[in-house]
Amino acid sequence: MPELAEVAYYAKQWATGLGQAAKNVEIHPKARVFRDMEQPGRLALLIKGSRYKEWRTHGKQMFFRFGNVWLSGHLGMTGKLWVAPKNYIPEKHDHLVFQQAKQQLVFTDPRMFGHWQNYDGAAFDMFWASLPPEVLDSRFTKSRLSEFLKRRARSPLKAVLLMQETFPGVGNWMADEILWRCQFDPRRRAGTLSESETAQLWTKLRLVCRQAMRVIATDWNTPPNTWLFNHRWKDGGTCPCGAPLVRETVGGRTTCWCPTCQEGE
Ligand SMILES: [Zn+2]
Repeated sequence: MPELAEVAYYAKQWATGLGQAAKNVEIHPKARVFRDMEQPGRLALLIKGSRYKEWRTHGKQMFFRFGNVWLSGHLGMTGKLWVAPKNYIPEKHDHLVFQQAKQQLVFTDPRMFGHWQNYDGAAFDMFWASLPPEVLDSRFTKSRLSEFLKRRARSPLKAVLLMQETFPGVGNWMADEILWRCQFDPRRRAGTLSESETAQLWTKLRLVCRQAMRVIATDWNTPPNTWLFNHRWKDGGTCPCGAPLVRETVGGRTTCWCPTCQEGE
């Protein structure tokens, strides 16, 4: 599943077409990715002729404005955004294509766990205002984190970091990375963190989000070997400290950690 930096990377791909009109919109209105839309068949009419004006991301959600219509997209497991040449003929998994004079903006999703929604300007403003602050937002304060950990006191840290209402865009690999940097056991209960440990978690949350945005969201570079990310994928991976990494299910997800570096309560 793409997490915030991968989502930002994909959303950025369509920036090539900013300022240009969609001469035509090709859509598969019956595709499962449009299950949340009331009338996906009308989307082409609504957008045809409009300029692509703006994009944003929030956690795992992407937003694109064509004229006065906002589209929100979620990549699911296999969704991708890319730019095709103007003479490209859309294929069966290309469920949404904006055809511009110089190129085509394509959403491809073979397994269709992704989903799309549309809003007019006023509805979008309300929706946007209702979204929780992201980790890198100045409203994401230490006290906000501390209160949330208290509310989820009995849950394992790993499960808590996956809660999108407080950590939008943080997914499986990022949660493991953050806990590894903090040297906290992922099974540890959220309520057991001291004030200084909570401050450390806040710092590492922001650090990992910032680094992921810099390394992955810009050009999808390979992260440096100082990240757990580079060691966690192989079976029998080894922590840079030399200890074998452990893989177990915590909070319903496969979790990777170092039993030497990451202490319990
Ligand atoms: Zn280690």
